[in-house]
Amino acid sequence: MKRLLHKELLRLLVYVLLGSAFGSYWEQAALGAALILGLLLAQHIWQLQRLAQWLLQPETEPPQAHRLWGEVFDGIYRYQRRQTADQQQLARLLERIQNSSQALRDGVVMIDQQGDLEWWNRAAEQLLGLSESSDRGQPITYLLRHPQFVDYYESQNYLEPLVLPSHLDETRFLEYQLTLFGENDRLLLVRDCSKIKRLERMRQDFIANVSHELRTPLTVLSGYLETLSDYAHDLPAQWQRALVLMTQQTARMEHLVADLLTLSRLETSDFKAEVEPIHVAAVLEAIRVDAIALSEHQHDIILDVDAHLYLRGAAQELRSAFSNLVFNAVKYTPQGSCIRVQWYHDQDGAYLAVSDNGPGIDNQHLGALTQRFYRMDSSRSSQTGGTGLGLAIVKHVLLRHQGHLHISSVVGQGSCFTCHFPLSQTLLGHRA
Ligand code: ADP
Repeated sequence: MKRLLHKELLRLLVYVLLGSAFGSYWEQAALGAALILGLLLAQHIWQLQRLAQWLLQPETEPPQAHRLWGEVFDGIYRYQRRQTADQQQLARLLERIQNSSQALRDGVVMIDQQGDLEWWNRAAEQLLGLSESSDRGQPITYLLRHPQFVDYYESQNYLEPLVLPSHLDETRFLEYQLTLFGENDRLLLVRDCSKIKRLERMRQDFIANVSHELRTPLTVLSGYLETLSDYAHDLPAQWQRALVLMTQQTARMEHLVADLLTLSRLETSDFKAEVEPIHVAAVLEAIRVDAIALSEHQHDIILDVDAHLYLRGAAQELRSAFSNLVFNAVKYTPQGSCIRVQWYHDQDGAYLAVSDNGPGIDNQHLGALTQRFYRMDSSRSSQTGGTGLGLAIVKHVLLRHQGHLHISSVVGQGSCFTCHFPLSQTLLGHRA
């Protein structure tokens, strides 16, 4: 390109010299040079006009030209052809992506920055009842109006999917998973999870029914065992021992059934947020009295609570969750241990922390403690009458109150179980 420019400048110089030589014949060298420059300028203007003309219809062949102008035309032509090829490749890729999305069994919906429906696949059309003619460009929250979906959409916290009954058919369940991309655009994935939901429901019903059915025979058994215990002193020694063991195991089974029933109630019943605020300080004081009785005064139980901090929620459920944590601290720490129960708040929420200076829990167990029937040491747990369901109940109760459980522990130093609630669940300075 540089070479061409040099040639062009050389040509200009030669023409100017020729023009001035021609003009000097009439002693008008400057006029001759100006005339030649003028002619050259006119030629460039003509080429520019051809370029402008061609750019109006760039798909046609470029005009024929030589030297620098020829290079300009060819360069633009080559660039245009590359662009067209790239565009075609992109269009093919887009078509492939659209075709594969169409073939997906899950619904895919693209939502623009304004929250309007931009594009969706065939599965989304069927799952959500979308119609190309009437729904394109409509706000997503106009189509999916369920308050829980609107909250989920606006929260911008899309770590977990949301499961709701379908608005087209109440017997079906849809799982919605939103993802943010680009500049506030969203991708909505919709999946029919009715089958899983049905299976889950069957499991819950089965557990609830079995637990319910077990309750009556267990009550009869423990009743007779109690009566027999009154006459224990008349029985031979080995029968006395058997009676004690039978009574212990029946009590354990009763505990287990009660915990299973509590869990299935928590899973199946809809949560109705009670407006009545709970005076957590009073609840904790009552739990402390029970915990002292359970520990037979062998533990030091300290309360450090904010008496003006109230919590909205189901009193019975929260009491059961908090007492599970305090009773665990009594059950799993040796005599003489210190248990501290704190209830406080900061700008991120309210916290109920139960800490102890007991044996602590190994790191490898921490993640699994809230799973049903998970026990670190089943022999120790059965000694204490544990069912392995206590922390699962705590987790469920907290979930229903928008809270979550955090467990930290150091082996040999103790454990701390903290329930965190958002500030929206609390009431400050409330007086009953
Ligand atoms: P369980 O009904 O057996 O007590 P949980 O779900 O309440 O079941 O507790 C699960 C396990 O967590 C217990 O078996 C116990 O090993 C452990 N654990 C709970 N609390 C503590 C604590 N404060 N210190 C040490 N271990 C604990």
